[in-house]
Amino acid sequence: MKKILFAALALIGLQVSTPSDTFAAGGVVKDPTGTAPDRYAYYPGTEELKKDEIRLIACGTGLPAARRDQAATCWLVETGNGDKFLFDIGSGSMVNVAALMIPYDFLDKVFLTHLHTDHWGDLSTLWAGGWTAGRTQPLRVWGPTGQTEDMGTAYAIKHFLKAYNWDAKTRDFVLSPKPGEITVKEFDYKGINAIVYQENGVTIRSIPAIHAGDGPVSFILEYAGLKLVIGGDTFPNKWFIEHAAGADVAIHETFLTPPDLVKFYGQSPGQALGVGTQIHTSPQAFGKVMSTIQPRHAIGYHFFNEQGTHDNILRGVLQTYDGPLSLATDNMVWNITKDSIVERMVISPDQAWSVNGPNKPPSPPAKGSIPDPISDWIKSGRWQPAEAAQADMVNKFKKENGMQ
Ligand SMILES: [Zn+2]
Ligand SMILES: [Zn+2]
Repeated sequence: MKKILFAALALIGLQVSTPSDTFAAGGVVKDPTGTAPDRYAYYPGTEELKKDEIRLIACGTGLPAARRDQAATCWLVETGNGDKFLFDIGSGSMVNVAALMIPYDFLDKVFLTHLHTDHWGDLSTLWAGGWTAGRTQPLRVWGPTGQTEDMGTAYAIKHFLKAYNWDAKTRDFVLSPKPGEITVKEFDYKGINAIVYQENGVTIRSIPAIHAGDGPVSFILEYAGLKLVIGGDTFPNKWFIEHAAGADVAIHETFLTPPDLVKFYGQSPGQALGVGTQIHTSPQAFGKVMSTIQPRHAIGYHFFNEQGTHDNILRGVLQTYDGPLSLATDNMVWNITKDSIVERMVISPDQAWSVNGPNKPPSPPAKGSIPDPISDWIKSGRWQPAEAAQADMVNKFKKENGMQ
């Protein structure tokens, strides 16, 4: 019966097929000057997280060629103890993270499932952007080893910093160099339910994934008796089946259907089958994973989510799974407690600025302690009428701020 209902919903093109308990909105408005009893919306920074609660936000759910509507993979997990974790930070995702107006000091922990750019391509934005916008400490990155040293996370971060050497050296001179550092914690990609992080009541474990090459992993986060599984790119694998079983929320990729990969992505039928059913997880296989592990709530992602693709994926999933489900798009948010899992949309400003945290920004390095990256030769090209043009404004500002 349930199956028929879901199939019917799919045919009328319902955006998300899910039992009603995941919807926040509802009830009646009793008074024309009053408020609605529930809201579909989550306005960042307006709700205190309860001690035993997890807030999960999809900051990127799409594909490597990020589009304005959907960035590449990024999940923000906020736990009731005040910790925040970024799981992947794919291309374009930082615009969604930034719109949450969370001080950058609270966004210092990044867990990478693997090193495809759609899973870490926006690390540069968090690294340099957060550095200019108030982070006071080094960024911390956790990620897997590879089969060889040059395929691991430590190698990637070391060379990331080398590639951005000019950026770092020029910022070191005017900002404190400390927040420009990255601390890497590399762990064995072959670890099976092995602990990779354990602090303040939060435990994060990793399991191997099967995707494109050795190295990719999925993560399992446990907090306050809640279990959240963040699946990275993978073909369905035995470790996920065993260790994601019974999760409160299980996130797993579900890829575009092979016909849609041909139609919209310009792939040959051979490529589409390979990518859509071997390197990634097909909707039918996703459904089989979820009906086997039976989470309280399943989340599928990693496809351009629009009416046509969504409905085709949903039809596939419904062949093998009829439980609670979200097919994620950017800015979906879930509040997870033992009693309920509530899904809403984040409503955030397009023009958000960074918000200061409690820590004072570090002072710039002492004069002469860091080499000046601008030579006298380049300085000799400064056009003096520009100084004259701004002199009054500069002097006024200096006076107002007690500067010499
Ligand atoms: Zn990948
Ligand atoms: Zn991917």
